Amino acid sequence: MEHAPRPAETPALANLTIEIVHDNCPFDGRLRTAWGFAAVVTGPEKAILFDTGSDGTLLLENMASMEIDPRRIDSVVLSHVHADHTGGLVGFLKVNPSVEVFLLESFPARFKETVRAYGTGVVEVELPTTICPCVHSTGRVGRRIHEQTLVVRTVRGLVVLTGCAHPGADRIVEQVRALHEGDIVLVMGGFHLGWATDSRIERVIRTFKRLGVQYVAPTHCTGEKAQNLFLKHFGDRCLAGGVGKTIALADLK
Ligand SMILES: [Zn+2]
Ligand SMILES: [Zn+2]
Repeated sequence: MEHAPRPAETPALANLTIEIVHDNCPFDGRLRTAWGFAAVVTGPEKAILFDTGSDGTLLLENMASMEIDPRRIDSVVLSHVHADHTGGLVGFLKVNPSVEVFLLESFPARFKETVRAYGTGVVEVELPTTICPCVHSTGRVGRRIHEQTLVVRTVRGLVVLTGCAHPGADRIVEQVRALHEGDIVLVMGGFHLGWATDSRIERVIRTFKRLGVQYVAPTHCTGEKAQNLFLKHFGDRCLAGGVGKTIALADLK
């Protein structure tokens, strides 16, 4: 007797590596720091550059030091329009224009034209968007400063990558929770708490705990005070960020 086909299972990655290639926070002393954030995500069908930092020369230098070939990147995802996340884009496109750039619909027309002038494809994001089978954008979050966040579905759960988290890291994780089923295994990136009060920081940490976030890797604009509070509450599940840091799925026990 023939069996009916099983419904397609939601794809989840068994391998994922995130490498921070541009950050104002230091980690690997061989690499240069500068204000901003960029990370390379490999393991999904597409190799993704998430944000580009502020400085294209430094971005490419750091990628070379980490033996990451920029020509192997398939897609660039820009979290938001600020220069410390987009300033490295033109330098990158000069080396590899054969990518598609996922940016928010609300980016200025001139910015989009600059990207298209390299012959590069632009994908304008407003609503939740699939980048490749296991990688999604939350779509636009935030009213004043628009931001999109990357969500990667892995066999260990969801990995969330933020740029600056201007709409609030807690609000972003709540949005991820609303959009995707599964545990949230890691939230990493800038949490934008450099000027926040202790009570605001504690509120973000409480939300992360309530939503079951297992690991955090706060960096970029998180701020020293918030970094220390995350370390206090997450212990050895608070991972270092900083330029040159690599986090693999296998590190998340
Ligand atoms: Zn910003
Ligand atoms: Zn930033």
